[in-house]
Amino acid sequence: MIAFAAHYSNDAKHLITYNSQFAAGNHSCALARIGGTVMNGTNVKKMRYDILLIAVLLFISAVSVGLLMLTRTAGERVVVEHNGTQIASYLLSVDGEYVLNGGTNVLVIEGGEAYLRYADCPDKVCVNTGRIKYEGQTIVCLPNKIAITVRGTDGGVDIVQ
Ligand SMILES: [Zn+2]
Repeated sequence: MIAFAAHYSNDAKHLITYNSQFAAGNHSCALARIGGTVMNGTNVKKMRYDILLIAVLLFISAVSVGLLMLTRTAGERVVVEHNGTQIASYLLSVDGEYVLNGGTNVLVIEGGEAYLRYADCPDKVCVNTGRIKYEGQTIVCLPNKIAITVRGTDGGVDIVQ
């Protein structure tokens, strides 16, 4: 005894018109109306698929991050570049303190990690970058045009000791 008329909007995504009438004239709405969109079984199902999709995407990105963490490898050395030109390379396995670029930055290698102990730049972003040790990690001092990058064994980088 329910007269049900449903019309979809032009994009066919939202059910916009809904009528439910009992013969007695009472109106009974078993469906929720949210923001002008009637939620019927189809829309609820669609919503569940959306949630499922988001959950799947979150899971995939979590797994990707996990794999990246597992597969990243500690580098062999750091390469120091000034203005795009390599000026030095130091093994991460050898502890040491190195004055770079005539004293603008001081690089420390300690326990297989590299960090800048001192920089004369105003922002100190490079010093605050902290320690790096994995291949591809980098410390950049923009004001002094210094870049320190961790390289691996395969690198294709000329070894300058
Ligand atoms: Zn700096």
